[in-house]
Amino acid sequence: MYAPRCRGHKRLPRDELEHHLRRNPRNRGRDLALHQFEFAGCELTTHTAGDHADYIDDIDETVNLWIRWTDDGRHEFVELKNCPDGEPPRGDGREPEPCTLFLDHGGLHSWQCN
Ligand SMILES: [Zn+2]
Ligand SMILES: [Zn+2]
Repeated sequence: MYAPRCRGHKRLPRDELEHHLRRNPRNRGRDLALHQFEFAGCELTTHTAGDHADYIDDIDETVNLWIRWTDDGRHEFVELKNCPDGEPPRGDGREPEPCTLFLDHGGLHSWQCN
């Protein structure tokens, strides 16, 4: 089963974004390349309920920073555990893809998105 990606997007709140990137110890002394972060685009498969979500930054091996937002303009930056459900092996020797979304995301896994 495959599904198209949600088309939800949002202009990122620059100051708040910078605040969250700077407090991540991994970014200490690093150029944040803030120009790369102008818009968030929802990474979920199409959905009619629930928040939109876009990956922002790595926190550690198991947790990433995301922005979640709603169509009526609310948003929050949240640290979420990674989704553990990677692609099942296909038996063709190809490395199965991990899901790049967060734990308990709605819709399908990233490897089911087209
Ligand atoms: Zn969405
Ligand atoms: Zn997933």
